[in-house]
Amino acid sequence: DSKRRGRNGWQAFTAELAEQQQERLQLETQLRRAVGNDEFHLVYQPQVELATGRLMAVESLIRWTNPALGQMQPSRFIDHAETTGDIVGIGGWVLKQACRQLRDWRSAGLAIERIAVNVSYRQFLGEDLAGNVRAALEETGLPGHALELEFTERVLIEDEPETLRTFAALRELGVMLTIDDFGEGYSALNYLRRLPIHGLKLSQLFVQGVPDNASDVAVCEAVTGIARSLKLGLVAEGVESHAQREFLLGLGVAIGQGFLFAPGLTPAEVQARYLP
Ligand code: C2E
Ligand code: MG
Ligand code: MG
Ligand code: MG
Repeated sequence: DSKRRGRNGWQAFTAELAEQQQERLQLETQLRRAVGNDEFHLVYQPQVELATGRLMAVESLIRWTNPALGQMQPSRFIDHAETTGDIVGIGGWVLKQACRQLRDWRSAGLAIERIAVNVSYRQFLGEDLAGNVRAALEETGLPGHALELEFTERVLIEDEPETLRTFAALRELGVMLTIDDFGEGYSALNYLRRLPIHGLKLSQLFVQGVPDNASDVAVCEAVTGIARSLKLGLVAEGVESHAQREFLLGLGVAIGQGFLFAPGLTPAEVQARYLP
């Protein structure tokens, strides 16, 4: 009897594995066609001056609506897209779309200094990230400093010669370079001096716990100190409460982003809210 149950358990296990594999295959098949089928759109989350609420910049965040899979959040597909390499094509689309949106807002009279775009470590490897950026800037007539690229510490770990060349080429284009989710990864602090980085984003992982959690408070203070002494910009992510905002202001953090101010907004929502 126990033998039989063991056998059934094994069958259930392999059936579950097969199902998972089937789901992954479906996801990957749909993902491959998603750019061509025009299934992505971007939403834009405001980055505001913490003291005044003034709009400083927006971060573009990708959204995917698929006929078979429904609404897919980035957490459900970005990792897969990185594994398959589809992120390179998707990322190219995002760059172009974000630059076009900023150009359109500017010509509508909306004074947004900068648009931030998330860039995968895969886009730094092998493919022509700098070339795509140059093309997007040329097409839209935006100056390099109107575009900010956010990447995670994963890029720094790869430490490929191509990565360093890409950084140099991006710097030449004048784009702003920011480390996202700072503190979550394996930051080797010497990278901060070696690479032409303009800013850090204080991870929401730590912002969440302030002002009550002592170790989150300590990390926020440490990251603020690093940014200050290396003269890097700093944006706090995931600001959800007035208590967090007050705490960050007390640390001297100037800019924040989070549900306290706004979630990702459609272009129409951005205009309705911020167009004078
Ligand atoms: P991220 O770049 O760190 O973006 C911040 C994430 O936190 C966003 O989730 C945003 O909606 C969410 N968020 C903003 N404010 C708050 C808050 O106050 N509280 C909480 N709990 N969350 C907040 P989203 O849009 O689901 O994106 C998740 C991640 O997916 C992003 O993290 C980024 O790493 C990646 N991602 C998004 N768009 C793109 C893209 O176009 N390309 C690439 N390569 N990655 C992207
Ligand atoms: Mg980001
Ligand atoms: Mg982040
Ligand atoms: Mg993140």
